Amino acid sequence: MARYSAGMDTDTLRRALQARRDELQALSSDSAQSREAVALDQQSVGRLSRMDAMQQQAMAQATENRRREELRRVLLALRRMDAGDYGICDACGDDIAPGRLALDPASTLCVGCAEKQETR
Ligand SMILES: [Zn+2]
Repeated sequence: MARYSAGMDTDTLRRALQARRDELQALSSDSAQSREAVALDQQSVGRLSRMDAMQQQAMAQATENRRREELRRVLLALRRMDAGDYGICDACGDDIAPGRLALDPASTLCVGCAEKQETR
């Protein structure tokens, strides 16, 4: 059976991850539509508003990149759940504290290793 750390509510965490995945995917297709709309408008708008549109497009792209990165982490966490190695630190192999997973179910590092990474 899966090696889950004691007290970890994987059902709740799985539901949270699935909800987040659906949300990110929905947001992503919404913004793909609005990016297309900007591209189509460009022929009809003046130079200044075209620059505005380009700036908005760049911002939308940055948001989209962040979403993709988060989606990648969420999908990875769900895969790890299926594989039975969810909640185990990628770096040291210790259990990730349930409280940390409750805050960010897609965490792949324990608190200690995450802090080491941040200060490096
Ligand atoms: Zn660790």
